[in-house]
Amino acid sequence: MKLDKVGQSALLRLSEVDLEITQIKHEITTAIGSKELESLRAQLASVAGELIAARSQVENLETEQKRADDDLHLVEARIARNKERLNQTSSPKDAQGLQSEIESLLRRRGELEDTELAVLADLESSQSVLTEVSSRRDGINSKMEQLQTEIQAQVDGLKARGRKLTADRETLVGKISAEVMTAYELLAKRQLAVGQVANRSCSACRMGLNANTIDSLSSLPEDEIGYCPECQAMMVR
Ligand SMILES: [Zn+2]
Repeated sequence: MKLDKVGQSALLRLSEVDLEITQIKHEITTAIGSKELESLRAQLASVAGELIAARSQVENLETEQKRADDDLHLVEARIARNKERLNQTSSPKDAQGLQSEIESLLRRRGELEDTELAVLADLESSQSVLTEVSSRRDGINSKMEQLQTEIQAQVDGLKARGRKLTADRETLVGKISAEVMTAYELLAKRQLAVGQVANRSCSACRMGLNANTIDSLSSLPEDEIGYCPECQAMMVR
């Protein structure tokens, strides 16, 4: 196949550009599918579950604390009322009944105070769990945001390089004949399609070439494309 000198160097550069474009696509896929981001997402999902549990624990204890508090107020109000009635009554029998009711209300008040204190202690510790889980969630969130920003910047950079290379590619293709391009596209699907003799080897497959091969490649007319006997790459000068 024939291709002039300008076309041959464009063909060599084209194979490099295509390789870079393939690498950029791969880098973009790797960046978007970041393992670190995936792990942060999993951490966030698990901490979200912890957060729901911690919040509902706090809410339950708040309800319990309010109930204990209400009960305590009711008992205190009944104690006050009974004491008032005790002061006003002239019947010793009523006084005795009121006195014993007050004593049992005082015991009940003691129990309710103990309950409330225990609930308050539980509430305090579950609030500190909630604070800890929330701040862990915030930490994961901000790490994720930072990582996403970094990934976005990296992907933007890669895309910009990709656009530049795609434009370069158009220019190079313009210097290569349609016949050679067809052969190139077919070959490039499978392998590095273009090579040169460098250090007595094919630069595409890195295999050493024997003296006969090197001689026959260098004796080809200047505008004739050769082939590597090892990998079938098109050999340019
Ligand atoms: Zn080769």
